[in-house]
Amino acid sequence: MTAGTDTSTHWPTIPKNVRALAVPPNLVDYDETCATFTWDEARKSLSGLPGDRGRNIAYEAVDRHAAGDRADHEALRFVRGDGSTHSLSYAELAEQTGRFASVLRSLGIGRGDRVFSLTGRIPALYVTVLGTFKNGSVFCPLFSAFGPEPVRQRLQLGGGRALVTTRALYRKKVAPIRDRLPELRHVLLVDADGTPDPDTLDLAALMREAPPYGEIAATQGEDMALLHFTSGTTGTPKGAVHVHDAVVAHYATGRFALDLHPDDVYWCTADPGWVTGTSYGIIAPLVHGVTAIVDEEELDADRWYRVLAEQHVSVWYTAPTALRMLMKAGTDRAAGHDLSALRFVASVGEPLNPEVVVWGQEAFGQPVHDNWWQTETGGIMIANYAATPIRPGSMGRPLPGVEAAIVARDETGAPRMQGGEVVLVTEPDAVGELALRPGWPSMFRGYLGEEERYRRAFAGGWYLTGDLARRDADGYYWFVGRGDDVIKSSGHLIGPFEVESSLMEHEAVAEAGVIGIPDPVAGEVVKAFVELLPGWEPSEALRLDIIGFARKRLGPAVAPRELDFTPSLPKTRSGKILRRLLKARELGLPEGDTSTVEAPR
Ligand code: ATP
Ligand code: MG
Repeated sequence: MTAGTDTSTHWPTIPKNVRALAVPPNLVDYDETCATFTWDEARKSLSGLPGDRGRNIAYEAVDRHAAGDRADHEALRFVRGDGSTHSLSYAELAEQTGRFASVLRSLGIGRGDRVFSLTGRIPALYVTVLGTFKNGSVFCPLFSAFGPEPVRQRLQLGGGRALVTTRALYRKKVAPIRDRLPELRHVLLVDADGTPDPDTLDLAALMREAPPYGEIAATQGEDMALLHFTSGTTGTPKGAVHVHDAVVAHYATGRFALDLHPDDVYWCTADPGWVTGTSYGIIAPLVHGVTAIVDEEELDADRWYRVLAEQHVSVWYTAPTALRMLMKAGTDRAAGHDLSALRFVASVGEPLNPEVVVWGQEAFGQPVHDNWWQTETGGIMIANYAATPIRPGSMGRPLPGVEAAIVARDETGAPRMQGGEVVLVTEPDAVGELALRPGWPSMFRGYLGEEERYRRAFAGGWYLTGDLARRDADGYYWFVGRGDDVIKSSGHLIGPFEVESSLMEHEAVAEAGVIGIPDPVAGEVVKAFVELLPGWEPSEALRLDIIGFARKRLGPAVAPRELDFTPSLPKTRSGKILRRLLKARELGLPEGDTSTVEAPR
């Protein structure tokens, strides 16, 4: 055992109720693919701007197709609340994004200037993202449910020059803070209808009058393209900077991890306010020339199934919170819908409980492919990907071109160093911090305005992810917990995910969130917050039954000592369980940054 690893921990490899899923027959050789893959080769699969003028995401995602035989292919299909749809072909998208770039230019917004959006998932949002790239400006999304303060913070930190929004959102969230944003020169309303509010512009009118746009800005691969704020699960959100070269990673990972092919109808359920909704809701699918579905509404179980069935979705990329919601609603809800077009389901954002992977097989005829990445990594890094067998409960293996490792930590949680090098954990199943070797194209190039924080994310040539994980003997990575969430109890290191997954196996449990609370004897003990499935009522007998159930599975040292029922767990707006908030509330501590907390259901 390497010095500094946590020897006391017991980590079951595959949960007892789950069999490893059968290996499909068409798998390519993982080692061989990894050995032959290089990012430079991947770069060559995308053409770059004509005439060797550089690299621009919008060219690869839109104009390259519009200039070729996919011009009339449906690029984006928007599903409205009533189920009706509205589409943009690649040619239409090229035209509209060109006009938008032209509008920016006419307003004096240039290379490197920041353009923000604050809208729902409407066509104008997608035109804004890609048109901003075309102009060589930098795009930054704001989630439409943010209040005025989070909007102000992000606009200020990002130095936003222009903002695209709707009239209602402007009045409610931007007008009250406008005088505190001197750098914000232009607010463009998508629905001004000829009568913009004072100090705003009518985007549709400007688009109509815009002169035809010339050449796409000759951005270089290393030019800044995107500013993306993290989910704020562990604290104040950080602004991760991404560059145009990232598109190479979106392309490669779209193929490896999501198995995208040009004739796919692909649905990524994430909002572009979060990195998944941009990297995989816009860029990756369009670079592959597929048809991407955008649902403009908030979703419930029936609507998820309806969209999957009615739009003949073939590849679906979603999140554990959505899948758990469907599971909660019962498998028979899936039965009434024709999901025969669906051939690949993937999930990201939070640990995916093994039970959900296996349930997917029943409900969709497909297991769910979990994958791992972060706002900072810009693209998928570790995945149960199309060409490798799934291990339920595992995040999968590093994608080709990605070098991952487990780094040993010292008592303070810092990486253990030896002669300027970090100490890597080499033996299977020992826990440490998940680290990545920098060098992939969608790697973040900084936290805007926080150089020191960025610097601290690296040690000995590795990027430290802040997540704890272990690697099994076959090279699969297993999520243990965020560095900050891990519980130390009587010398054991306990990952909340393991405990939450066990609790979910109880017949009454819909979802669970687990934290450590101080204990004079053990240091910390495990406390669980449990949401029950419909039809179950909280009772003392049920509480004891669930605790007993967890004890049998996990042993008394790891099972929750305390358990509270809760009608709903606090989550980020991107759907992640907020353990730091459960803990702050439990201990009566300040709640910290709550800008990304979802309003309780
Ligand atoms: P913040 O950094 O502001 O605290 P955040 O880390 O939640 O927020 P994101 O970049 O959106 O912001 O999320 C990335 C994190 O989500 C990962 O570091 C990891 O903790 C978690 N995550 C993502 N995918 C998975 C997965 N498949 N399994 C387990 N955890 C995952
Ligand atoms: Mg993070």
